[in-house]
Amino acid sequence: MKVQLMGAAQAVTGSCYIITTANARFAIDCGMHQGGSALEKRNFNTSAYNASELDFILVTHAHIDHSGLLPRLVKEGFTGPIYCTEATKALLGIMLQDSAHIQETEAEWASRKLQRQGEKPVDPLYTLEDAESTLQYLRSTSYNTTFEPTSGVAVTYRDAGHILGSAFLELAITEPEGTTKVVFSGDLGRPNALLMNDPSIPKLKADYLFLESTYGDRDHKNEDTSLEELATAIEYSSSRGEKTIFPAFAVERTQEILMTLHLLHKAGKLPVGIPIYVDSPLAVRATKIFREHPEYLDKEFSQRLKQGDDPFAIPGLRYITDVKGSQEINETPGPGIIISASGMCNAGRIRHHLRHNLYREGAAVVFTGYQGVGTPGRKLVDGAKTLNLFGELVYVKAKIFTIGGFSGHAGQSQILHWVEQIAHPDLRIVLIHGEKNAQQALSKLLQSRFSITPTIPAYLEELELLHGKAVVVHPCQEGITPPQINWDMLYEVTEQNMERLKKGLPQVRQRQWPEQVDLRDQLLEMNRQFLHLLSQL
Ligand SMILES: [Zn+2]
Ligand SMILES: [Zn+2]
Repeated sequence: MKVQLMGAAQAVTGSCYIITTANARFAIDCGMHQGGSALEKRNFNTSAYNASELDFILVTHAHIDHSGLLPRLVKEGFTGPIYCTEATKALLGIMLQDSAHIQETEAEWASRKLQRQGEKPVDPLYTLEDAESTLQYLRSTSYNTTFEPTSGVAVTYRDAGHILGSAFLELAITEPEGTTKVVFSGDLGRPNALLMNDPSIPKLKADYLFLESTYGDRDHKNEDTSLEELATAIEYSSSRGEKTIFPAFAVERTQEILMTLHLLHKAGKLPVGIPIYVDSPLAVRATKIFREHPEYLDKEFSQRLKQGDDPFAIPGLRYITDVKGSQEINETPGPGIIISASGMCNAGRIRHHLRHNLYREGAAVVFTGYQGVGTPGRKLVDGAKTLNLFGELVYVKAKIFTIGGFSGHAGQSQILHWVEQIAHPDLRIVLIHGEKNAQQALSKLLQSRFSITPTIPAYLEELELLHGKAVVVHPCQEGITPPQINWDMLYEVTEQNMERLKKGLPQVRQRQWPEQVDLRDQLLEMNRQFLHLLSQL
């Protein structure tokens, strides 16, 4: 069998693995690439997926970086079944629609800009109609029940403990040469999370393990410390009369933050009467789905819900769906807690809240989830002094908090502990869903702990797997390499322009004063852009 990596190879987004066996061709996940224009261009490059030639798709969970390209494939001719758990099916119903809405809005915005420049408009990645017609192909599966989407491919979904309905997959693929057993970890949850069960242990004695490595280079702090840090962040901004902003994935992260606020409230650690806003129509709908599927939640938590100890109904909590309500939040002065999507600040209403609050001394922005490279969220976590929002530079005066203890992903030791349960001397590991540093760190530990040297494949590479054999890597034929940037030339041109600018000074001084003011303003704007760039070095 062969596995081609369509994404999440030395990156965290765009999860999709296309598997070709003796008698089938199918995909595991079909996620969107996120984090800057270079990565996002890959979303439009879907011809290599050859959608109409895919027999079926297995989806591990509803997050957009695992599911967001499904409508694109349907648009390109995919008509097979898409398997997922019942809860994932319910979540996809709202998430793909939301994603299509974002795609349509962004294309409309870009088209208007292009048309003003005399260029042709662009098509959205997919439309609402594509998203809606995707839903007809969804088929529910249950945890721990093996099924055969096609003969020779046996699949078992097991609870990954990452978000509602999330799974890791066990595959037994029978070909004339023998049976190859593969485990795909999907996104692995953090044990002891408030809402989710701990990740299950694989039952299959795998030949190959495709292992996520998001936090391969670090451990999370414990939950109690993180709870204290969260209280500190809220106290910091509320005592200064400012707002606390939580950029959060609408699914799971928002609900976990609500649960955390609920605990703080019960412990008397939440400022009295502070308004809390969940400002995301998607999060509101997702919260409803959480309530409807207690069977997927941590037992203690669903028991709590049953007894009326409701974390989704904290005093002062308001769910905002309409645009006017969203705008009113920032028109109301004084402290408040805003939970809004997207979690990495690359889309959605959170960007408006950042625009209104980032420049305010005393405000706080609290990150509780992973921030992919190239996203605005990552820039803030890395200490950016300015952020470009809606084509405008906004100064960062708000305090940025990063709290890892609520992560939806297993930390380094937790990943290793999970691997320990299934490791054996002949197991081969392929690291996926992680950035280079995280993968290298995890790779070293896997070697020292289990004497396994993992394979770290790149985007579009194809791996050949055969029971009992090492992974064979076939480089991508098209030779996808990162762009080569001629920095020396670019710096030289910049220096030459600076020289010309200096030489022009005597003439500038001779201009009439309205022209001088105009030139001064242009130079000031250039300097602002320059500082923005320098702050990222
Ligand atoms: Zn996920
Ligand atoms: Zn993921």
